[in-house]
Amino acid sequence: MKRVVIVGGGITGLAAAHALEKGRERCEVQLVEAGPHLGGNVQTLRHNGFIIDAGPDSWVAAKPHATRLARAVGLGDELIGTRPDTRRVYILWQRRLHPMPEGLILGVPTEVRSLVDSELLGWDAKVRAGLDLLVPPRRWSDDDEDESIDSFVSRRLGSDVAARIAGPLLGGIFAGDPASLSVRACVPQLVAAERDHGSLVVAMRALRAERRSQAASGEGEASAFLSLKRGVGDLVLNVAHKLRDAEVFTSRAARKIDRLPEGDRRGRWVVETSAGPLHADEVVLAVPSHVAAPLVRDLDPELSLMCGATDYASAATVFLAYRKFDVRHPLDAVGFLVPRTENRPILACSFVSSKWDHRAPAGQVLLRVFVGGANDEQMVHRDDKELVRIARDQMLDLLGIDRPPMFTKVFRFMRSSPQPHVGHLARMRRLLARVATHHGLHIGGNGYIGTGIPDAIRQGEEIAARISPRGD
Ligand SMILES: Cc1cc2nc3c(=O)[nH]c(=O)nc-3n(C[C@H](O)[C@H](O)[C@H](O)COP(=O)(O)OP(=O)(O)OC[C@H]3O[C@@H](n4cnc5c(N)ncnc54)[C@H](O)[C@@H]3O)c2cc1C
Repeated sequence: MKRVVIVGGGITGLAAAHALEKGRERCEVQLVEAGPHLGGNVQTLRHNGFIIDAGPDSWVAAKPHATRLARAVGLGDELIGTRPDTRRVYILWQRRLHPMPEGLILGVPTEVRSLVDSELLGWDAKVRAGLDLLVPPRRWSDDDEDESIDSFVSRRLGSDVAARIAGPLLGGIFAGDPASLSVRACVPQLVAAERDHGSLVVAMRALRAERRSQAASGEGEASAFLSLKRGVGDLVLNVAHKLRDAEVFTSRAARKIDRLPEGDRRGRWVVETSAGPLHADEVVLAVPSHVAAPLVRDLDPELSLMCGATDYASAATVFLAYRKFDVRHPLDAVGFLVPRTENRPILACSFVSSKWDHRAPAGQVLLRVFVGGANDEQMVHRDDKELVRIARDQMLDLLGIDRPPMFTKVFRFMRSSPQPHVGHLARMRRLLARVATHHGLHIGGNGYIGTGIPDAIRQGEEIAARISPRGD
């Protein structure tokens, strides 16, 4: 029987283990996780009737892998969309919260009326956004050509839309700087939209119409984002519970992987871990690439350098729970974004209990404030008390909340948000080609190709399919 060692018990490693159990060839799977529990970035805490998703709170509905996995592990009835009455976002602009124009898809306005009415943009910027219908599409000469999100959106919709709408929305997903993030790696849908429709506005309007008709016919999801009633952490728990044969070791870190001499019957690979070696025919590295880099240094220094080349930013989330009557602001949105130009110590704030049902007990509300990111890394190193003070000062200034919270929670995500800079996809193609030269070695997860939970699951499942194709 083939022996497989998976390094990393985040959602990528778990998806790989789950898919391997369903594969055609029976495999003996061992999964090693350095931390005390599984899930990596995906962590849900339950406290005083609140459900607190410390990191990811949802996934993009349009990418099917997470929804499919949730259904496969018995969570089909637990899927929830965002609350329909609060599907809007505020943006901080010149010290005031402004509603983003309605009907934005990936930062692209699809409703003329709402764009025209928006106070966020002057007339010149609105007219410039309309020129998207006329600006000729860029003809990319090859797959390695790339452009930053900021440059792409400015070229199509103008620099004001890039700075005030699309940049903060899209850059916010990566806690990164839209001027250096790759449009092809981070939002390939925009590149495809320009290629196929010549205009982002036309493409996103067509997409919106398609989504509406799919939702009306019961085929698609009404909400662009999906979560689980009791928090995204249930996905990790249920996948882990479904693993029947895999051996799962927590608090056991991989330190190095290397090849065994040809003909060694224990397999092709040895994974040195904090609790002794594990032998395997195939190894799956489901850890961020900066973690993979030292693991493969002795095996292949060039591959190690390639893995180490992607930057990762750190971020923290600060949760503030209040009694509803202590908050005068209606919290009538999913939250607000803070563009860098506003010079604030926070990146964004989610109105968690407005965005989702089930997150706070009746009469209470939950806010989540993001700090850190690529442009403000040192924030994450401040102590909890200081981060709570900063978050509360901002809530006082922006939402008028002057009452003390009922409780607070702080979570840190060190080097957890990959920064796919311009040229990332070409670098990843070279990296994966290099990995392929090592028979039985597989790499995937946070920071390679694709972003977010669905792409992590897709990569885990694709790796499993290479090791043991599905029987059905
Ligand atoms: C604050 C935050 C919010 C996010 N929000 C969203 C969201 O709303 N929606 C969305 O789709 N995505 C979101 N993401 C991205 C999402 O979390 C990731 O895409 C996904 O969780 C990546 O999973 P992974 O398994 O590849 O990596 P990780 O979650 O990083 O898991 C890797 C695992 O490997 C373990 N490990 C590390 N070193 C070793 C070692 N030497 N040996 C063994 N194990 C090791 C780690 O402890 C960890 O458990 C967010 C990320 C962050 C940081």
